Amino acid sequence: MIGVITTVPTEIIFAASRRPVDLNNVFVADPEADRLVTWAEARGLPVSTCAWAKGIYGAIHRLNIREIVGVISGDCSHNMALCEILRSEGVIVRHFAFPPSRRADDLERELERFADSLGTTLAAAEAVKPALDEIRALAGELYRLADGGMVASGDLFTALLNTSDFFSDPDKCRRELLAALKKAREARAPVQPPIRLSCAGVPAIFSDIWEVFDRLNVRFVDHEVPRQFALLDGIGLGMVETYLKYTYPYDVFSRIEDVGREADRRAAAGLVHYVQSFCHRMMHDRLWREGIAIPILTLEADRPGRVDERTRTRIEAFVERLSP
Ligand code: SF4
Repeated sequence: MIGVITTVPTEIIFAASRRPVDLNNVFVADPEADRLVTWAEARGLPVSTCAWAKGIYGAIHRLNIREIVGVISGDCSHNMALCEILRSEGVIVRHFAFPPSRRADDLERELERFADSLGTTLAAAEAVKPALDEIRALAGELYRLADGGMVASGDLFTALLNTSDFFSDPDKCRRELLAALKKAREARAPVQPPIRLSCAGVPAIFSDIWEVFDRLNVRFVDHEVPRQFALLDGIGLGMVETYLKYTYPYDVFSRIEDVGREADRRAAAGLVHYVQSFCHRMMHDRLWREGIAIPILTLEADRPGRVDERTRTRIEAFVERLSP
């Protein structure tokens, strides 16, 4: 097992006969997620640090993960410090950096270096990719069905997100996606057409966010970050092309363009931009508002838990404003 803290070139991990485990998913799925955050604070991580970073730290210790991939460019401003803390505790940290230049030659060099650090090669990873792409294609089919309103917001979110580590077991991931597709194909169309929304930003830390929107007859037809994690635009392409098309680790402008294009294609009536307290990405909110034409609701939260009353009221007011 090798812990990952965002989407990394998973093909290289599988090519090295290792299994990735996405620690974000471990943290947020933990019934005691808030206790992982509190535990991290007791170990000296500041209260004024993002709860995702603290939850990941807690998850690493809960699972006794002894090796991780730390993405030191293109993910999180906390990662370098987090990796240093983990190294001081004996965890092996393999670095990966998405090149800020977003140039093919820089990325190719970094992929080769990363492969070498795990004892494999980029060519071996290229050979693994078609099998993972087949699974990603199932996630892509679910995303296509979501355009017709046949996929529950939470089901779409989870299915796309789980491709970040393929559940550490690609066969299990395939089975889960086939089950989700079957459910979507058998679903009845909603009696009242739902309000269609898009979602952008890091995954929300709320445990019941999709249910809150479900109750208001909202369907999310796009989830930016999980869709990007699923690398749908790179299916059938080589490693370098695929990880260049992946927008999340690069500049915010290509993310905004991507989300705006999908919102247009999918006739989304509004966008929910989720920001995490103490996250550097909060600073982008202004740029999202300047770059997206449809109404935007920015939601912020700090610790894991249910949607609070103030946020619920803001959600209700936003949905009411969009209601026909
Ligand atoms: S929400 Fe922001 S600060 Fe927190 S782990 Fe993610 S990128 Fe880092």
